[in-house]
Formats: sequence, C-alpha cells, structure tokens
Amino acid sequence: MKCDPNLYRAAPPSLAVKPRLIRHLFLPPLVILLMVALGFLGFWLSEHYGIRSLSESGQRQLELNARAVESEISKYTYLPSLLELESSVSQLLDDPTPEHRQTVNDYLEGLNRRSRSRAIYVMDTTGRVLATSNWRDVDSYLGEDLSFRAYFQNAVRGQPGRFYGIGSTNGEPGYYLAHGLEEQGKIIGVAVVKVRLESMEERWQRARLEAFVSDENGIIILSSDPARRLKSVRPLSEDTKERLARSLQYYWFPLNELEPLARERLAEGVEKLTFPANVEVAQGDNEDISYLSQTRPLSDTPWNFTLLTPLQDLRREAINQGILVAVAFALLAFLLIAWNERRKVIATRLAAREALQEANNQLERKIGERTTDLRASNDRLKAQIRERRQAEETLRRAQDELVQAGKLAAIGQMSTSIAHELNQPLAALRTLSGNTVRFLERGQLDIASANLKTINELIDRMGRITASLRSFARRGDDHGQASLAKAVDATLQLLASRLDGAAVQVHGQFIDAQVQIDQTRLEQILVNLIGNALDAMHAQPTPELWLEGEASDGKYRLRVRDNGHGIDAQARKHLFEPFFTTKPGEQGLGLGLTLSASLAAATGGSLSVEHPASGGTAFVLGLPLVSPHPAEPI
Ligand code: ADP
Repeated sequence: MKCDPNLYRAAPPSLAVKPRLIRHLFLPPLVILLMVALGFLGFWLSEHYGIRSLSESGQRQLELNARAVESEISKYTYLPSLLELESSVSQLLDDPTPEHRQTVNDYLEGLNRRSRSRAIYVMDTTGRVLATSNWRDVDSYLGEDLSFRAYFQNAVRGQPGRFYGIGSTNGEPGYYLAHGLEEQGKIIGVAVVKVRLESMEERWQRARLEAFVSDENGIIILSSDPARRLKSVRPLSEDTKERLARSLQYYWFPLNELEPLARERLAEGVEKLTFPANVEVAQGDNEDISYLSQTRPLSDTPWNFTLLTPLQDLRREAINQGILVAVAFALLAFLLIAWNERRKVIATRLAAREALQEANNQLERKIGERTTDLRASNDRLKAQIRERRQAEETLRRAQDELVQAGKLAAIGQMSTSIAHELNQPLAALRTLSGNTVRFLERGQLDIASANLKTINELIDRMGRITASLRSFARRGDDHGQASLAKAVDATLQLLASRLDGAAVQVHGQFIDAQVQIDQTRLEQILVNLIGNALDAMHAQPTPELWLEGEASDGKYRLRVRDNGHGIDAQARKHLFEPFFTTKPGEQGLGLGLTLSASLAAATGGSLSVEHPASGGTAFVLGLPLVSPHPAEPI
C-alpha cells in the first residue's frame, strides 16, 4: 500500500484545536484562582497595615487611659499613711477604749466622706478592726479579724499593702490600700482604705472603650465588659488557685480563664484576640469578635492595663479592599481577554483580507490570461469565419455553376425526348397542314377548320414545351416566392409525354401553397424528383405516382412517392453525393438530387428520402411557407 506523505505533514485537526481547547478549559479557573488569591492578598495587606496603624493610634489611647487609671489609683496611695499623723488613732491603738474608738470612728467616717473612698478602717497588729468609717452599718467591719488578708500581712511587716479583693463581710469588691502605722519605729497597727474603682469602668463604658485591668495574679479586676470581670487572662496553676481560694481574695468566684478563640502575638504587649460571639452584644450576628489587645503595666502597681480595640470595622474594610482588588483584577482580566480576542479578530480579519486580496490578484491574473487566450481564440475564430465565408462564397459560386451545369445536363438529357416531343407535333403539323390545303381545295371547309384547330392546339403544346424548356434553362432570378400548384402543373406538363407514354397514374393529394423559393427552381426540383420516379418505374406494369402535401410548423412538405424499384442499401448512402448515379450510359449525370437538395437548403428548406415498407421510394421536399395559411385545395 502506498501512503500519501502529505497526510503526515499537516497536523491533524484534532491536534490543531487542542491549544485553544486547553486555553478555554484552563483560563477561567486560572482567572478565578488568581482573583481569589489577589483578593486574599489585598485583604491580608489591608488588614496588616490597618492593624499597624490601629496599634499606633491604640498605643496613644493606651497611654492616655493607663495614666487615667494610675492617677485614679494613686489618688488614695497616701491616704492610709495620713492616719499616722492622727493622734486619736495612735491613742486608740495604745488604749482601745470605747471612747477612743468612737472618736476614731467619727474621724474615719468624716475622712471617708471627704475622700469619697469606700471605707477606712484601723486594725491592731493582730488584724482585728478597732475602728471603721462604716461603724454605723449593719455589715460594719468593726471587731472583725482580717489578719488573713494579704494587705494586712504586708502592711504589718512594714510593706505597702496593695490588694484588690472581694470583701469577706459584704462580698463587695474593692481596692485595698494598707499602711503599717508606726510609732517610734514600731508598727502599732494598720490603716486600710478601701476604694471602689467601678467609676472607671463606667467611664470606659460611657466612652465606649473596651479595656480591663488585670492584677498580679492575672485576674481581671476591672473591665468595661462585666462578663470579663474576675476571669484570668492566663492559665492559673493549681497551687495558685489553692492559694487564692485560701486567701479569699476573690471570695468564692470560680476564676475561669478568659478564653479567646484565637490568640496571635503581634508584638511585645500587642496581641490579636478573637472572642466567641456574644449573643447579647452581637444581637444575632454570630460573628466571632476580634480585638487588637494592647497591654501596659500600671506604675506603682503589679497590675496591667489592657486596651481592646475592635477589629470588625478594620476587618470589614479589609474584606472590602480584598473584594475591590479581586473585582479590579477580574475587570482587568476581562479587559485583557476582550482586548486579546479583539486583537485576534482583527488579525483574522486582516489575514482574511490579505487572502481575499491575494485571491483577487490571482483571479485578475487568471482573467488576464483567459482574456488573452480568448482574444487569441477570437482572432482565430474570426480568421476561420473569414475563411468559411470565402469557402461559402466559393461554394455558392460552384453551386450556381453546378445548377447551371445541371440544367444544361438536363437539357442535354431531355433533348432527345424534346426533339421527339417536338418532332411528333411537327410531323403531325406537316401532315395536317398538307391535308388542310387539300381539304380547302376540295372545299371541305369543316374538316379544314377542324384540322386548323388541331394545328393550333399542337402549336400551343409546342409553345408550352419550348417555354418550359426556356424557363428551365434560364438562370432564373430568385424572386423567392413560388406557387406549388403552378410548379407541379408546369412539371407535369414538361414530363407529360413521358407520363403518358408510361401510362403513369398520378395521385395529386395536396393543396396549393405559396412557398419561399424561386418558381423555376421549384419546378427544377420537381422535374428532377418526378423524372427520377419515372425512371424507377419504367419496369413497373402499373406505375403510380403520389404527390401528397401537408403544412405544419410554418413549412410545407410535399412527398413525391412512386412504386418503382426502390433504392438498395448500398445506394442509399450516396444518394445526395454529386455525380452518383445508377443509371446506365448517358442517361444519368448524378447531379439531380444534389442540386435539388442544395436549392431547397438555400431557401431554408430540406430534401430527404424515405423508403416505405410497401415498396418504392418517397422524396420529401420541405419548404418554408410564405404565409402561414395555405390556399384552398385543388
Ligand atoms: P441521375 O438521375 O442523373 O442518376 P440523380 O441525382 O437525380 O442523378 O439520381 C441519383 C440516383 O438516385 C439515380 O441514379 C437513382 O439510382 C437514384 N434514384 C433517384 N430517384 C429515385 C427513385 N425515385 N427511385 C429509385 N431510385 C432513384
């Protein structure tokens, strides 16, 4: 088997479309992937820089609020030490009589009112409360043993007692500042001021600030959100928990850990905290809440102040930025794809235009070549036409010559019978005229007159013969119009002696018609056809001649049929060839049918032959009619 190498040169169509298919399959997911990635990057960058700027402004806020907390706490720092200066207090500690107690109670009550602290009380070195500002209250501290309190234990050792705790008497939280009261370098008692710091919480809430203060144990003691209060900001060890429980610092509160969902350390003292959604706060919006948490230690205390800045707005803004970036990228990608498609369309159009231009050029080239070819063949055709015209002219001249020659030949051929025709009447005339003279001499006028009449008739007949001969022999002017009946008459007249001699029965079955041919030429054709028929029938005992006519399609067809010997197969092939004859000796020239056919053709007519099954021969002469309506039948 032979393989066409071209098959392997061109890439198969399936392979040719593959890159486009791949592009169409992978481009949309790629764009979507990039869109998501860029959107996420936009979101991340926006959040990152947002947090940075937020932490800068948060730092200032942190500083401001931490100072406020510090000043609030430091307000009361020196209040317990002031009691050292009060003589009634030292008297009470020296001699705790009811009078002294009452004096100190009143003093402390007034001092507490003025300093707007929660309570001020004085303890002896055993930790028992000797006098208190709230001596009037039912839940007064008076007489209570608070030696277990850490602030007392610190103060009695001469250290400043700072302590946040929940009151063991009334369960009220407060900030306790204790000071060991010295007399001559010896601690004789402890003065304590209990302060409520809730006002700070209220202030934060009013300012919509989220903040809290955690103490040395990591327990939130002050918080703008009450839910976070008394929660630990870091995990508490079991020991610490036990110690705190024993000290009743936070009464019996469970001290759960403040558990953020996620904790991300951003810098020293800066964290990102995410808390679970607070249903009440979020009002059905169950999104987790993220905060930027900034912490700073409060001076003079082991406490820390933490400022929480909500990140929702920042996050929302970052999401918007991310979406914006993604949309911008999608738009850009769309524009790029659209631009690329348009570029391809333009390139395709340009290529198509170039191809069209090329095809046009080729077409024009081909048209030019064809035109040159056509012009050359046109010139050749013109030359051929010229040659044909010349040949036609030559032929026509030859034809005319032939017609003339045919006529002369026919005359020569007929001369014997003409001579015979004329000799007969001439002999008859001679006899009749001699007889007539004798009858006139005898006075037999009747017979003489009858003879003269016969003579006249004979002369007429002779005249007709010579007239026919003349008209036949003449090179006739082609008037182009002939009467069929007249032509038939003239022909039968001309051939009358032969027809009569052979006793031919003529059947005329045609109507007169005006046909487009010269009268003489028509007669010449008919003389030929009927003459041939007579020749063919010479051996026929009952010769019969049919002249049948019919008009159709603007033509008149005259059929000249005989019951002669017919034409054998060999002769049929050469009938219309010039000088073809089967007649012996001088009898035939072989020009009759040739001339007749050419005369008929010259007027747009035709001559054909039929060979009837019944025998004999029929020649059909077709000639164009002058008028489409033929004359009446004869
Ligand atoms: P010619 O009569 O001089 O031979 P034509 O061209 O008139 O030349 O006729 C050619 C030949 O056609 C005749 O020799 C004859 O054999 C044949 N032919 C023509 N007419 C008839 C006819 N009616 N019947 C039989 N043969 C015919």
